[in-house]
Amino acid sequence: IRATSAVAQQAAKPVAGAVRIGANECWTGPFPVAAEAAFKLVTEGNRYEPDNEHQKLFDAVAAVEAVPTDRIVAWPGSSDPLSRVAIAFASPTRGIVTADPTYEAIWRTGDWLGAKVTKVPLTKDYAHDVKAMLAADPNAGLYYVCSPNNPTGTVTPIADIQWLADNKPKDAILVVDEAYIHWTETGTAASMAAARDDVIVLRTFSKLFGMAGMRLGLTFAAPALMEKMMRYDGGQVTGMLPMTAVACGTVSVAQADLIKARRAEMNANRDKAIAFLTKKKIKVIPGSHANMFMIDWGKPAKAMSDALLAENVQIGRSWPIWPNVSRVSVGSAAEMDAFCAAVDKVWKA
Ligand code: PLP
Repeated sequence: IRATSAVAQQAAKPVAGAVRIGANECWTGPFPVAAEAAFKLVTEGNRYEPDNEHQKLFDAVAAVEAVPTDRIVAWPGSSDPLSRVAIAFASPTRGIVTADPTYEAIWRTGDWLGAKVTKVPLTKDYAHDVKAMLAADPNAGLYYVCSPNNPTGTVTPIADIQWLADNKPKDAILVVDEAYIHWTETGTAASMAAARDDVIVLRTFSKLFGMAGMRLGLTFAAPALMEKMMRYDGGQVTGMLPMTAVACGTVSVAQADLIKARRAEMNANRDKAIAFLTKKKIKVIPGSHANMFMIDWGKPAKAMSDALLAENVQIGRSWPIWPNVSRVSVGSAAEMDAFCAAVDKVWKA
């Protein structure tokens, strides 16, 4: 076996009692009003689908995103559909092009399939280098753009994403992973997935919506593309989802004010920690528009994350291309204060 599950790859085992700022989770649960909807569905758990829960989710998402309901499918998170995209559209003759560093789920599955995987470094502004990505494999089956990108949190301009959609081979698929889209105001590729038949956009409820353990994600794409991802279990209703998660997601997407407030709180916690690090002359990769940021320690990241864990603070991992750089997720104000105190204790320039 060449690859293990994407979720297992990304999340280090939780350490009991530690401040957990390693897996880009939200430190708090779903919005209370959404959690209430989930609780109600627990009591109706005898029914496969008590009251058209899928359709309610599609309608709620369509109203917010302006994507037609027949172009929306719901999944248990977005790791599984990422793997399905690779299986459906990459092959030993049609490769996958990604940025580096980026989220690995799609290329790991491609690697497992025997597809050629091409990784293209980010630009000096930490955006995807879309022209270099196309040039690196002009006949790929899949081009994967993660914006904001995990692990840098940096955004690739929507005009660049549009350029890649317009210039890739006609029969290749552009995949835009928008797991962290709620932290940007610079535009989504959802309208491309709504209008074109060669773009797939992925969303997840694991981040801002605080539902990582409940498992809910979405794809926006033409029905014909989604049929290929379904293979044996076609249709918009997959039978894979607990109705609790579906109902929770339906209420969550409609909470414009709560989304804004949660984002503002996370941004404030992130920016305060970054200001602390900058004051200590610790280098932070600039430009994060997400609930994470990266620290360039100038020495092996593993030693720093081990030292912080000894102080009961569990930060994220590094990527092979940048072994001195750790990803840190944004936690509550108290958690970020604990993180800063631990850095203060263990840091020696
Ligand atoms: N895509 C990106 C960019 C991510 O960062 C993650 C998780 O960290 C995922 C997809 C998958 O998460 P989930 O399966 O919980 O939706």
